[in-house]
Amino acid sequence: MRVAVVGGGIAGLAAAWDLRHVAEVTVFEPNRLGGSILTTEFEGRPVDEGADAFLTRVPEAVQLCEELGLQDELVAPAVGASALWANGGLQRLPEGLVLGAPSDLGGLLQSRILSPLGLARAALDLVLPRRRPAAALSVRDLIADRFGAQVADRLVDPLVGGIHAGWTGELGAAEVTPQLVEATQRARSLLLGLRGTPKSGGGPVFLAPRPGVGRLVEALVRSLSEAGVRFLTEAAQAVTTISSGRVVVEPNPEPFDAAVVATPARRTAELLGPDAGVDALVRVPTASVVLLTASFPQPLPPALNGFLVPRAERRLMTACSFASNKWPHWSEPGRSVVRVSAGRHRDLRALELDDDALADRLLDELGQALGVALSPTATRVSRWPDAFPQYLPGHSALVAAVEQSVSQHHPRVALAGSTYRGSGIPACIASGRRAARMAALGSEVTAI
Ligand SMILES: Cc1cc2nc3c(=O)[nH]c(=O)nc-3n(C[C@H](O)[C@H](O)[C@H](O)COP(=O)(O)OP(=O)(O)OC[C@H]3O[C@@H](n4cnc5c(N)ncnc54)[C@H](O)[C@@H]3O)c2cc1C
Repeated sequence: MRVAVVGGGIAGLAAAWDLRHVAEVTVFEPNRLGGSILTTEFEGRPVDEGADAFLTRVPEAVQLCEELGLQDELVAPAVGASALWANGGLQRLPEGLVLGAPSDLGGLLQSRILSPLGLARAALDLVLPRRRPAAALSVRDLIADRFGAQVADRLVDPLVGGIHAGWTGELGAAEVTPQLVEATQRARSLLLGLRGTPKSGGGPVFLAPRPGVGRLVEALVRSLSEAGVRFLTEAAQAVTTISSGRVVVEPNPEPFDAAVVATPARRTAELLGPDAGVDALVRVPTASVVLLTASFPQPLPPALNGFLVPRAERRLMTACSFASNKWPHWSEPGRSVVRVSAGRHRDLRALELDDDALADRLLDELGQALGVALSPTATRVSRWPDAFPQYLPGHSALVAAVEQSVSQHHPRVALAGSTYRGSGIPACIASGRRAARMAALGSEVTAI
């Protein structure tokens, strides 16, 4: 069987990995293998330009690393606290937060993040009756219903909105915070429900290959090549259409028996064409982000891995990672590397600035947050246009309908990638592996 994998991001590569022994596989990627994953040298050391770690709770990334023999290269970030830039300074985030939502009021009380009124409103969660069913709500509505607007806007939005480069007032609770929805089902009080969240089996929450996440892509591409997978990576080989029945990938009119389409949503809709019933993909909004990496000849605040910035602060930056605290091997002792993020859905200010102006603005804000003037020894700007799909309420139903339509119109075509069932690396790997099974078997498989 000949299978085309269209898109060489981690989802497409994971699909190729599972297909390599059962099919003759060709990966089409006109830009760069790895897609949103990129590790390059910064001041002589490999430093990630995008993702810098993956969750271990969703096991697919760790599993894939093990299959590639990378297990001994995996390292956990240094343990450190996180902070919030609020009330004119960096406030440590309290213990006991689950995606920013409190499972303990004591910690909240001690932090200066909420006002006395905000704290009192948060405590009402313990006595309020059950409100609206959480699954159809936005994340913000779910949290504001239980804990009030301050917890929603000062704690949950910076974290959950930050992960997705979106606004929790638009992101679907069931889609991006299923843990919170499950907690509302466990108890009338969300706080008490969160206390009952099953504990993970211990071990680090995040891991990454020591030479950066790009190492995963590099190992995958090498092993796939050794297994005979063909890579077509010239821009001229970009796929333009995928037609039904016999899957033909244009402009290379090569017949394929099946295809995994692991391109961004809008591209996927274009490739499959107007008759495939996938127009809804065009309606999945995306957010663009930029990431400034900067190094300094001075150490960073100790034991702090970074800070988040609530949107009410009206800053350009959305978050700052004290990267060389988190990953000590990214810099020499006494020096430091930070990664500052900007840009989210509907906030295009960062995209409109050129690299120099952007770096100046973000360094100025960083200096204000730390209360020092900063002179970097090097800076690098990484731009990630449309990299973050926004999962609005109802996204899961939209995905189910699109998949149903594809399986009817193109039975040997399967979709994969960050658009569908999670945008983290482990979820993208899971979607690639699922799509590989669907394309190879030509039938639906148990949903992941
Ligand atoms: C700045 C940033 C930080 C992140 N941090 C983390 C993190 O810490 N942890 C985490 O788990 N996740 C993180 N993510 C998310 C994660 O990296 C991505 O969601 C994931 O890598 C997306 O993989 P993908 O294969 O779905 O899509 P992509 O990586 O976007 O790959 C899609 C590929 O399709 C190709 N393509 C487009 N058109 C065509 C065509 N016509 N023919 C063939 N190919 C085509 C593109 O060139 C691209 O390579 C981050 C993302 C970004 C941008």
